[in-house]
Amino acid sequence: MDASILNYSVNDNVAKFLSQTKKLYINGDWVDSKAGKTFEVEDPATGKKIATCSAGAEEDINLAVTAARKAFDSNRWGSIPPNERGKIVWKIGDLIDEHTEELAQLESLDNGKPVAIAGAADVALSSDIFRYMAGWATKIEGETIPISVPYTPEAQYHSYTLREPVGVVGQIIPWNFPLLMAAWKLSVALTAGCTIVLKPAEQTPLSALRLTEIINDAGILPEGVLNVVTGLGEEAGAPLAAHPHVDKVAFTGSTEVGKLITQAAAGNLKKVSLELGGKSPTIIFPDADVDAAIAGAASAIFFNHGQCCCAGSRLMAHEKIFDKVAEGISKIASNIKVGPGMDTSTEMGPLVSNEQFQKVSGYIESGKSDGGEILAGGKYDNSEGGHFVHPTVFAKTNADMSIVKEEIFGPVLCAQPFSDQDLDKIAEAANNTNYGLAASVWSKDISTAHKLAGKIRAGTVWINCHNIFDASLPFGGYKESGWGREMGHEVLHAYTELKAVTVNL
Ligand code: NAP
Ligand code: MG
Repeated sequence: MDASILNYSVNDNVAKFLSQTKKLYINGDWVDSKAGKTFEVEDPATGKKIATCSAGAEEDINLAVTAARKAFDSNRWGSIPPNERGKIVWKIGDLIDEHTEELAQLESLDNGKPVAIAGAADVALSSDIFRYMAGWATKIEGETIPISVPYTPEAQYHSYTLREPVGVVGQIIPWNFPLLMAAWKLSVALTAGCTIVLKPAEQTPLSALRLTEIINDAGILPEGVLNVVTGLGEEAGAPLAAHPHVDKVAFTGSTEVGKLITQAAAGNLKKVSLELGGKSPTIIFPDADVDAAIAGAASAIFFNHGQCCCAGSRLMAHEKIFDKVAEGISKIASNIKVGPGMDTSTEMGPLVSNEQFQKVSGYIESGKSDGGEILAGGKYDNSEGGHFVHPTVFAKTNADMSIVKEEIFGPVLCAQPFSDQDLDKIAEAANNTNYGLAASVWSKDISTAHKLAGKIRAGTVWINCHNIFDASLPFGGYKESGWGREMGHEVLHAYTELKAVTVNL
């Protein structure tokens, strides 16, 4: 790559990494796609090409699945004692930390997010989940179960359960947190003893590829345990989801593609876990610490440029404080410095792609024409090649507008007052969406907050905070926000099969 294409100086490893055409990682080797096809990766701050990657397709997926199948069936990974497997998973966490600067720069160049946030959030959370999962390697346990079989009253039995790895897993991930989504998925699969074919998003394949290089260079995984096939969703993702020798597919992305994944998985009834979209409410009561709620609600929608599945995109504030809250959030929005992620003064980078830019700016126009009132932002600009959308706050919105119903996945907040004190009615309005990923409740009254948390149909409810993640907390959705949970010990259930063994004593 011509280094001048990057407007910012980068870590030497990043410059070297970007200068080579990226290959697929299959059975421990870096290989070209069988068809020899490639695709380009751009810097969303400039629209300029920064890397070329191999475009995998069905025949590459077949090779990767065969390698993963062989590694699983030969017990190459599963036979490593749990304590040793845990050490390897932990080691990956340490390797991520050692490469923080370059992984943060790659993430910023590839996705657009501010480089400091990429280091402090994306990279730090990624290493943390490997270390969290490492501890579980020695604790994937079954149970002994007393049984009393009515038709063999004289017999005595010893029954127990075993938790075994589900097998070969296909993992398909999105572009909003490219390294972190790879880390959520790889850490648990390795811990559980599964073998993997990972398909990163076409917009942001770089950090997962660099992580794979780092793991490969460390020589810590047997060949075939981890395979990475970059490429387009329809060409590489679809055959992975449909593959008859894949035992489970784990997907994070849009609800629309999540539905396609379940259909593709039906062929061999592979296990499916889905972490999908959201339209999460931020609900602020008049007794809340209003300044904290304003700051929290702004961060809930504007963090990661609104490109978060759990973004607090529907603001519900009590009418007594609505104007103050809407004004406070709008002031924060107007002061957010929008620019290239690699510029250290930037607070909000570009959206990931022209496709997202068109989608989000289209929603801004639809909000305006449906009668929404813009209190802040509403501006977007791609005149110099970058995909910049300014943080936007809409008032005068209602439940029938597309901007309120649909996931925008950009920095656009829809604000509505509520007047009710009846928690059932508030919950009904909060739950008035096909999604059920997250919500936040802002109140100093613990009864109000806990009671409402119980009434909200969502996988996560934050009280007096939003976007608080930890490797030990399960995360996932009700309704069309998905199936199953990521993280915590709960996710191990999605990567293991349960076997009951009964011995006639
Ligand atoms: P997407 O299409 O759902 O992409 C997610 C992943 O699925 C990517 O790796 C994608 O590959 C792959 N994929 C696409 N079509 C596939 C298929 N038919 N079979 C198997 N895999 C397939 O998401 P997107 O198009 O990037 O974004 C569209 C919208 O999805 C966003 O505007 C946002 O609303 C939502 N989204 C949600 C999340 C989340 O965390 N819940 C994350 C990202 C996006 P390619 O990237 O190569 O196409
Ligand atoms: Mg797509």
